[in-house]
Amino acid sequence: MKIVDIRATTVAVPLEAPLRHSNGAHWGRFVRTIVEVEADNGLVGLGEMGGGGESAEAAFKALLPYLTGHDPFQLEALRFKIANPTASLYNNRTQLLAAIEFACLDLVGQHLGVPVHDLLGGRVRDEVAFASYLFFRYAAEGHKEIRTPDQLVEQARELKREHGFTVHKLKGGVFPPGYELECYRALAAAFPEDRLRYDPNAVLSMAEGLRFGRAIEDLNNDYLEDPVFGLEGLRQVREQVRVPLATNTVVVNFEQLASNVMRRSADVILLDTTFWGGIRPCVKAAGVCETFQLGVAVHSSGELGIQLATMLHLGAVLPNLGYAADAHYHQLRDDVIEGGKLPYVNGAIAVPSGPGLGVRLDRDKVARYAELYRETGGYPYDRDPGRPGWYAQVPNERFADPDISVEVRT
Ligand SMILES: [Mg+2]
Repeated sequence: MKIVDIRATTVAVPLEAPLRHSNGAHWGRFVRTIVEVEADNGLVGLGEMGGGGESAEAAFKALLPYLTGHDPFQLEALRFKIANPTASLYNNRTQLLAAIEFACLDLVGQHLGVPVHDLLGGRVRDEVAFASYLFFRYAAEGHKEIRTPDQLVEQARELKREHGFTVHKLKGGVFPPGYELECYRALAAAFPEDRLRYDPNAVLSMAEGLRFGRAIEDLNNDYLEDPVFGLEGLRQVREQVRVPLATNTVVVNFEQLASNVMRRSADVILLDTTFWGGIRPCVKAAGVCETFQLGVAVHSSGELGIQLATMLHLGAVLPNLGYAADAHYHQLRDDVIEGGKLPYVNGAIAVPSGPGLGVRLDRDKVARYAELYRETGGYPYDRDPGRPGWYAQVPNERFADPDISVEVRT
């Protein structure tokens, strides 16, 4: 089997509502690039990357001279062909590599007639549990604003009723920490049987991070995720707060993982199939974590069905997956895969069992959402449509005002 073509299509898929986060917002849609890698036997492998537009499509096209004739089975060689560690200082292709790796695994699986998890050691579970992933949101068609503790609890209740979540993650870093603490404790009070996690995307100062961490020690926390920035910052919080710490920001490669093993800063490593350059590096990293008794979970950097499939195959093969995975997926209004969105049952999604990644493109949906991308374009992820002129600092001290309700047009 040999690669003969690479195609990339940027799509915009609507979210229920704009999602607020510490750096700005997802402005009511996800912009993603769908990658198709075609082999000489006619099979097409699927990949996905966050962001998009002409430059992303061109970046994938530019890999064709590197990969024409490449055998998709040669996954280690793939890494060195397009993202060896020193050449990557000049052309950071980690996220491109990840999308191509997904597609090559999909090709190999289809070629052999086996699911990707069978190429990764075989699954140890048939479904992957997910957290509810709660955001402060602006109002949008059919969906009310989520800003107050009551609105947040109501959203969590709806999601729990609809999807069966028993773990709730609050994405914070939007409002002052004291206010978000009130929100988090409201969730804890509303769901005393469930587990919780809070992620302010590393924007708290050391003092606020310590204050927040100490103030939740009595709750049923999975972990506190990136309360402050940096391995050294996390280490200081970890020394003074009795809540496990997790990160997806500062342990995203093997050098950082080694640092965290030698001088522990985070207890739980959130593995992201894109940030780490593919599913296989995440499996390798999970092996290191198993040896050193670090926890692992599956991170979400935003996903449509292809990326979600990579997260499910990853979650399926990790014996030491100790926590529910994160996904933005339930915030989407639609997907680009055949059959529509993969369903949650009892807070979990079944691991695809078809050949390769086990998901195929719905061509009509891809065309529709490629058109939506052409109409609406990208959006500045690191800006907030409700706060013109604002930008985030780390640590942040200019939080949004929780008493103000803003209507935004995105
Ligand atoms: Mg995070």
